[in-house]
Amino acid sequence: MIRLSSHGAAKQVTGSCHLIETERARVLIDCGMFQGGRELAEENAEAFGFKARDIDAVVLTHAHLDHCGRLPLLRKRGFRGAIHATDATRDLARLVLMDSAGLQEEDAKRAHRHASRRGEPVPEPLYAITDVMYTMDLFAKPVAYGEVREVAPGVRATYVNAGHILGSSSVLLEIEDGDQHTSVLFSGDIGNAGRPLLEDPEPPPRKPDYVVMETTYGDRDHRPWKDSVDELIEAVSSAYKRGGNVLIPTFALERAQDILYVLYHAIEENRLPRHLPVFLDSPMAISATQIFLEHPESLRASFVEEMSQHDPLRLVGLHMTRETAESMAINRIRGGAVIMAGSGMCTGGRIRHHLKHNLWDEANSVIFVGYAASGTPARRIIDGARSLRLFGDDVAVRAKIHTINGFSAHAGQHDLLGWLARCGKPRKVFLVHGDYDRGMQAFADELERIDQPWHMCGMGEPILLKGDSDS
Ligand code: ZN
Repeated sequence: MIRLSSHGAAKQVTGSCHLIETERARVLIDCGMFQGGRELAEENAEAFGFKARDIDAVVLTHAHLDHCGRLPLLRKRGFRGAIHATDATRDLARLVLMDSAGLQEEDAKRAHRHASRRGEPVPEPLYAITDVMYTMDLFAKPVAYGEVREVAPGVRATYVNAGHILGSSSVLLEIEDGDQHTSVLFSGDIGNAGRPLLEDPEPPPRKPDYVVMETTYGDRDHRPWKDSVDELIEAVSSAYKRGGNVLIPTFALERAQDILYVLYHAIEENRLPRHLPVFLDSPMAISATQIFLEHPESLRASFVEEMSQHDPLRLVGLHMTRETAESMAINRIRGGAVIMAGSGMCTGGRIRHHLKHNLWDEANSVIFVGYAASGTPARRIIDGARSLRLFGDDVAVRAKIHTINGFSAHAGQHDLLGWLARCGKPRKVFLVHGDYDRGMQAFADELERIDQPWHMCGMGEPILLKGDSDS
């Protein structure tokens, strides 16, 4: 018996967590956090749908919070197996999980004060920084792309580059159970080809029997990279000429480094002023940028070559501001600066202070370069809100608003289909990691068109995988 079940990212985008079970082994593929509204946040504290202590190993595809965010909770609930990941994924996961634990400790402290005043039971954080430290001890020796590793009895994993963020992988599991054997390719999140910092997504080393695949943008394509670069440079340039500031709400992993790279080259090509002041106002993005430069094995060969000549993320006018006081000093700059800060969807972080100081002035610009979930301040601004509530004030939205979607770290529909075509024709494609009524349904329609059998995994639904018999 070889069984697959999903315990997150089932008919939704976040919380990736899939389980492969045989008579001899239980392997988890990712253990991510649910992100979004309050109900989703509460889902993180629920039971996993399996016993944490029964899991032999975790195969981690990449370091985004929605793929690794529940690992410390898994350990807290009894998991003591090994976590397998690439070297870059391990380094980024440490950063991402530390940040997450810090936020949860803060949230719990706040909730603690409220609950104590009302005499209610005191809530616990999901996990604390010490839990993250213990979790990091479970990471096995880093996996290299192409290496075949036995992660549990009868389960061999091969990682290939997924081109999504630094260290990201698709993982082929080759599974034996008695005289049955089968193979399942887990896509992880799939990136885009032709990006300057990362190699293109790679096909699996061998054709899989089954594919479990993400469908985040299963319903649409992005604008080409080059058009998006031109749009970004034009937006920065015109704000500079108006004497305004440019705010770029930034995701710390990948997007921040992509934008720095684009600005660097725009300055080199004299498309932007040489001493353009650029503030990377995010401790997490600063650390992530450092980790980038430490992992040439996970970067595009041409980028590594360029790094040997100069640092293509280090602009002349770049200021990396870790300290709060440095960040607050940025508020006094009346114009001519580019300010990159988190969070990408403006739900928290330093960007909210910068919005308060800049959003009301029509000389300024705000450029959105990433996914904006509904209900978030980023979404409200993009959808044309007249004002935004920030720190108790209603701030008018008068700045020029741009949305540039070509920087997305996810492949669009056309590239997802192209990726799948390189997997041969699997017996079945299991669709996960997408909005049920958008990306996922649209992608299923496409699979229908090419006569590819598919199935949408339900939460916890057990699915028997057919093995080939040796006899
Ligand atoms: Zn991701």
